[in-house]
Amino acid sequence: MSTSTAPRSIDWLGTLIGFDTTSRGSNLELVNHVEAFLRSLGLDPLVVPSSTSGKANLFVSLPAADGSTQGGIMLSGHTDVVPVDGQDWHSDPFTAQVRDGRLYGRGSSDMKAFCAAILALLPEFLARPLREPVHLALTCDEEIGCHGAVELLAELTRLGIRPDKCIVGEPTMMRVISAHKSSNLYRMHFTGVATHSSLTPHGVNAIEYAARAISFIRSLADGHRTNGPFDPDFDVPHTTASTGMISGGVAVNTVPDSCTVDFEFRTIPADDPATMVSRIRTFLDEDINPAMRAENPAAGVRLEEVAMVPGLSHLGARDTGDLARRLLGSATSDKVAYATEAGIFQQAGIDTILCGPGDLAQAHTANEFIELSQITALETFLLDLAADLQARP
Ligand SMILES: [Zn+2]
Repeated sequence: MSTSTAPRSIDWLGTLIGFDTTSRGSNLELVNHVEAFLRSLGLDPLVVPSSTSGKANLFVSLPAADGSTQGGIMLSGHTDVVPVDGQDWHSDPFTAQVRDGRLYGRGSSDMKAFCAAILALLPEFLARPLREPVHLALTCDEEIGCHGAVELLAELTRLGIRPDKCIVGEPTMMRVISAHKSSNLYRMHFTGVATHSSLTPHGVNAIEYAARAISFIRSLADGHRTNGPFDPDFDVPHTTASTGMISGGVAVNTVPDSCTVDFEFRTIPADDPATMVSRIRTFLDEDINPAMRAENPAAGVRLEEVAMVPGLSHLGARDTGDLARRLLGSATSDKVAYATEAGIFQQAGIDTILCGPGDLAQAHTANEFIELSQITALETFLLDLAADLQARP
């Protein structure tokens, strides 16, 4: 096979990149376009509107030869992309451009190439009597907390649809990823009492209490770094925690009456995120709040959960990983630090892995691209999957 042959899904990838599906906006044009295509193939897609207006998830089942849509394998990708604001693009990010064996465009790696290849190769699956059903899930709001996958799963559960296996096509360079860390985003709101800075005993300094809480979070992070538990398959082999944003105060001569702190933590499968958050909550309830209220009953701190994406664990069902490794001729799986929808699907009892084309290093960057050879590798994988799923008489 000539390597200069253009991948079969290039046109679809250009079409998908042409829809600006930045998470803050709508993805309905893309969803409507794909829905119409699926109907033209005789399929009956399900559009699951998001609770945020102007967005939807799309799901469709290709029934098995016996007509069944129960169980089977789901191929899942998110439709939204991250903003291009402030990035130095050399070409229009929403117009696919092929240069030097690469295809450039926002979402090319993360993760419209995966979605495009499935759409382009759907006829290959439809042409075969399938041993088990194949499902396609296109979600929204992945980049801002994986909300779409949660809504889609709730609707599937309501309808009694539950795939057995799932491949989430995030960019892994077509490696099988069996585990990723959880991602947990929280915000602390400190309410103090303002006063002139010459009269500190009359006020409550929200920033100073925020500093204590930040130090506590750092001490938890240091504990994990020093004492583990450790999982050497991760680049950073332990649970991490980090404060990323802080805002508070109006002037240096005013005791600040408010401070907001955003922090996150990412757990390895051996750590439970609930344990981490309960240690933080206990510290705020038993140390910070009493100390602030002792200064003034109107003061205090409140913890807000912003987003929680469960981790993907390598422990448990392995059929999907075994299938993907067999088709790819690969012996190993890897673990990664970034969170995806895969953990949400696994929590719903679906045996899930990550495996998709392109390099995560490209995700979210200016001049995002995907190597055409990665698209071809995915197409080969999907064709092998279709052949593998063909029912034998
Ligand atoms: Zn992604």
